[in-house]
Amino acid sequence: MSEFGFKILHTDKKTRARVGEITTAHGKIETPAFVPVGTQATVKSLTPDELKNLGVKLFFVNTYHVYLRPGVEVIQNAGGLHAFMNWHQSLITDSGGFQVFSLKNKKYINFAFSETAVLHQEKVSKRLSQKQVTNEHVYAGDYRPVGELVKIDDEGVTFTSHWDGSTHRFTPEKSIAIQHQLGADLIIAFDECAPYPTTYEYAKSAMVRTHNWAKRSLVFHQRSYTSSTQVKTNQSSHYRINFKKSSPSSLNKKIRPALYGVIQGSIFEDLRKKSAKVIGQMDFAGLAIGGVSVGENKIQMCQVCDWVIPLLPQNKPRHLLGVGEIDDIFDIVERGVDTFDCVQPTRLARMGHLFTNHNFQNARTQNFSIDITKKIYSKDFRPISQGCVCDTCQNFTRAFVHHLFRVRELLAYRLATIHNLHFVLTLVSNIRQHIKAGTFSKYKKEFFLKYK
Ligand SMILES: [Zn+2]
Repeated sequence: MSEFGFKILHTDKKTRARVGEITTAHGKIETPAFVPVGTQATVKSLTPDELKNLGVKLFFVNTYHVYLRPGVEVIQNAGGLHAFMNWHQSLITDSGGFQVFSLKNKKYINFAFSETAVLHQEKVSKRLSQKQVTNEHVYAGDYRPVGELVKIDDEGVTFTSHWDGSTHRFTPEKSIAIQHQLGADLIIAFDECAPYPTTYEYAKSAMVRTHNWAKRSLVFHQRSYTSSTQVKTNQSSHYRINFKKSSPSSLNKKIRPALYGVIQGSIFEDLRKKSAKVIGQMDFAGLAIGGVSVGENKIQMCQVCDWVIPLLPQNKPRHLLGVGEIDDIFDIVERGVDTFDCVQPTRLARMGHLFTNHNFQNARTQNFSIDITKKIYSKDFRPISQGCVCDTCQNFTRAFVHHLFRVRELLAYRLATIHNLHFVLTLVSNIRQHIKAGTFSKYKKEFFLKYK
């Protein structure tokens, strides 16, 4: 039995914004919700406890990355992703498709870790005396061309690992099986994310393939669990799924995850509308909008939401894949997006770009942030953002964080990440409160006035 549920608690009268609640076996997630991305099963520099204390309820892990390293077997042996990461709230994994298709634009692998690299090192060793050979002859930044990394056909996609050049194949069935084995609460159907820009013809063929793969993902997912064979175990009062022995995805799983379908169609209105109808009518628990944040501008991204969301069933949660910069958040929430994931707040933090709650010293902020590495902050003993109650702002000054970045101390990344995540999570929490109070549009106006 799936513990998954979704209910709408409030709807905004002026926009499509809504407050809802997703329930999984690992807790409740109030929506709209920002979902931090832990590409390699970790939000860089933070512990799971720190994430929990920041108020994170749902965490996004990239299947492609953890499939390659440490590998599904290690995670299964650990008891699944939750146990492996020591994260005991909800998790969402993607299909792996986005990262695989983004390899299309890459023509290089990390030569240092490949088998070819080992052969190369042996050749170097023969030419030089042992004393002269160091690891520097084959170093981590040694990228070599390998030709096409991705080959797509109607059955699936064959790709080359960016780590070591090894060959792998994902199909819809394989992607779902891997996600079952990883054990997240929410999982995503296998889809083809067309590059941007692309032709109408290619976007159409990728959409048709995505629809076929959606059907196959759904069939495989449903066949992997047979609700009629649920049994109550003697050891536990919890219901447990009695899996079909033949299912390759049934290992190490106690909870039935909720499967989201993905809408594609690039920036073409008729394709997006068609995809929204086709995927919206399938028996998915939730709906994800993919193929955005791939190079199109923000107006185009909003247009895609405007075309797609009105055609989706009201009673299913909607996840926007890969979007969540500060100004995007208002735009997508008012269009009816419930959850969204984005690497930008944590990536900016590691670059020293820290969010502020106003336009600092009349100098226009970039991306709603200040660049803490700039010299003007070297003797600034105020907190990063006035009024911020995060651990960083409560305990440290701009001058100290500036110093940490200048000398590249590891604490810099942690303090910066804590502040930026706190900023975004507080913003989204405020948005939820304002939707409930009927003041969402007023709050949006006031928020942007502070940066003028
Ligand atoms: Zn702060």
